[in-house]
Amino acid sequence: MSNLPPVKRFTTSSGLRIYRIAFEFMPNLSGRLYLLLGAGPPTLIDAGTGSPTATAQIWEGLSAVGSEFGEPFRPQDIRRILITHAHVDHYGGLAELVRRTGAEVGVHPLDSRTICAGQERLAIARQAFASFLMRAGVSGEDRAQLLDGYGRTKRHLESVPVDLLLEDGRAIDGIRIFHTPGHSPGHVCLLVDDVLLAGDHILSRTITQQWPESIAPYTGLGHYLESLGKVERIPGIALVMGGHEPPVRDVYKRIENIRASHFRRVDRVLRVLRESSQPMTIDEITGQLYDRQSSFYAFLALTDVASRVEYLDERGRLAVANPEESQDAETGAVSPVRYSVDR
Ligand SMILES: [Zn+2]
Ligand SMILES: [Zn+2]
Repeated sequence: MSNLPPVKRFTTSSGLRIYRIAFEFMPNLSGRLYLLLGAGPPTLIDAGTGSPTATAQIWEGLSAVGSEFGEPFRPQDIRRILITHAHVDHYGGLAELVRRTGAEVGVHPLDSRTICAGQERLAIARQAFASFLMRAGVSGEDRAQLLDGYGRTKRHLESVPVDLLLEDGRAIDGIRIFHTPGHSPGHVCLLVDDVLLAGDHILSRTITQQWPESIAPYTGLGHYLESLGKVERIPGIALVMGGHEPPVRDVYKRIENIRASHFRRVDRVLRVLRESSQPMTIDEITGQLYDRQSSFYAFLALTDVASRVEYLDERGRLAVANPEESQDAETGAVSPVRYSVDR
């Protein structure tokens, strides 16, 4: 079934080697992780999903680095695993890979709790998501279904202690860390000479999924766009390699396209609200913009639209039609929030 690209070697401007290894994730989406050789001890960037298939594909790819490319390297030589962000397709395989290699684990402080206390974070995020669904005006049945599916891929994950904090501005053996929040709170991009390992911050085909900060603080479209600007200001990036899809050659052009696409999406929300005779909930806006099929896509569509509504609301572009009903001061119960364009 596997249609994965083979292991591929990239060389940075100072001659460090980066090996790209692909693994299966979802039917139409495979993942990529990277082995970095020459910058301190052998370092893996990200850890795959944790499914037995993905971990086997990763281990096989790592073995090929020695057998096919002639590197004096075996997978168990990995000493560091740096996580670009705490999404399951990037850290799910961490516990098993740490068991096999004894590697140290590095992640940004804002994503570290998900790695070292995952079930606690999942419970907190689920509460925030439940409250979000009420405010977004999602009906009872859809709400139950979405909540039931929430975090399903993370429930089986083992927590792993964090050894290294990937703080913004730090450099570890020449690997420069840039905190790029948005897609996740503690997302980082790692610059190795002229190559940027970009996690899911910048992909070559897909516009990365956004979430509202009301579900996950320090995400949000505002943070994401600021983080795009941060990468844009790094001079001389020759190649960007992300967690999915082929590499990006002209990152500066790609950033312009991503930014334009987000502004178009934000404008679509404004258009729907302008054309409506009534103030609308996030659920109603989503219904105008997307077809609902599977709960997964409903989830992605809702959270994406919510990130745009939040972006507009934070910037004073929207008015809330029912502020007094949206939260009961006595019981704390939340009701759907209805938005209109602030004319
Ligand atoms: Zn991600
Ligand atoms: Zn990803």
